[in-house]
Amino acid sequence: MSYSVDFYISLLYKIYPCKENFVVDVKHKRNKRVMGTYNPRFRRIRIYDEHSDEENINTAIHEYAHHIHYTEKGKKKNGNRPHGPEFKLIYHALVVMAVQKGLASYQLIDDLVTK
Ligand SMILES: [Zn+2]
Repeated sequence: MSYSVDFYISLLYKIYPCKENFVVDVKHKRNKRVMGTYNPRFRRIRIYDEHSDEENINTAIHEYAHHIHYTEKGKKKNGNRPHGPEFKLIYHALVVMAVQKGLASYQLIDDLVTK
């Protein structure tokens, strides 16, 4: 099955209410290279949803971390590498909140710790 745009938007707001709006675009196809993207210019999270529910939610959280990093932290000169330490802190915080609120599987924590 696949989730709707509204599902992702409400899920992400429940995890953390970001300060700047964003849009979600769901593509019902498999992209060989990426499971999702974030376009800072359009504040757009795109999800290629031909994966498991768990993977799709993880992708949404990952791209949401890019949005928050870019719109709420990205003004600094340093520390704004796309997958640098600052991004990882944001992503990890979102995962913890999502699991605590019962919105994502505990497996995500295992992945953070062991991978
Ligand atoms: Zn990324």
